[in-house]
Amino acid sequence: MISIDKTKIDRPKVLNNTIWIEEQLLKIKDYEKPGNEIKNRYKHKEVKTALCKLYHNKCAYCEGKIPEGFSERIDHFRPKNGIGKGEDKIKNHKGYYWLAYEWTNLLPTCEKCNGIKSNKFPLENDNTRITDDLITEKFIVKDKFVFENFNINKLETEKRLLLNPEIDKIEEHLYFYPNGEIKHLTEKGKKLLKFMD
Ligand SMILES: [Zn+2]
Repeated sequence: MISIDKTKIDRPKVLNNTIWIEEQLLKIKDYEKPGNEIKNRYKHKEVKTALCKLYHNKCAYCEGKIPEGFSERIDHFRPKNGIGKGEDKIKNHKGYYWLAYEWTNLLPTCEKCNGIKSNKFPLENDNTRITDDLITEKFIVKDKFVFENFNINKLETEKRLLLNPEIDKIEEHLYFYPNGEIKHLTEKGKKLLKFMD
């Protein structure tokens, strides 16, 4: 993982259509599993092309090469359809489905990392988790979605354990030896390496 500056590239136009996004979210927000209803616009060609360009066709997690024309492998950093699996599944949380089309929440991944990451989003302290109550969390104010609050840089009240190449200074957490080996410098770095292993 290396740090990436997403501000270098424009948000794809297809994700700027807040009228369409608002319509979708209003339609599904009261469903028991809104994530099941998410349409595929987040993996529109325009989005994939932008992410591949920004990441030089490499996986956001392991930096492995992503083959040309990768199909399903856009990771929602904050998962859109429930959080965790089995024993680790977070109860009473629908997942961060409202971030399904949020540019800052989308990362390109290789097939392997996409499978490992899945819908995991562990926190240091689960009491800090942002709930799926969009009004309490101010994602909806006066019946209107507040899209600027969707930017995941604003969600740092959550004590997340997973590093994000667009937010964290990766070199503070990981040390890269010239031979390609990686050593962790922090607990977060350690968790990431364990996660990728
Ligand atoms: Zn990968």
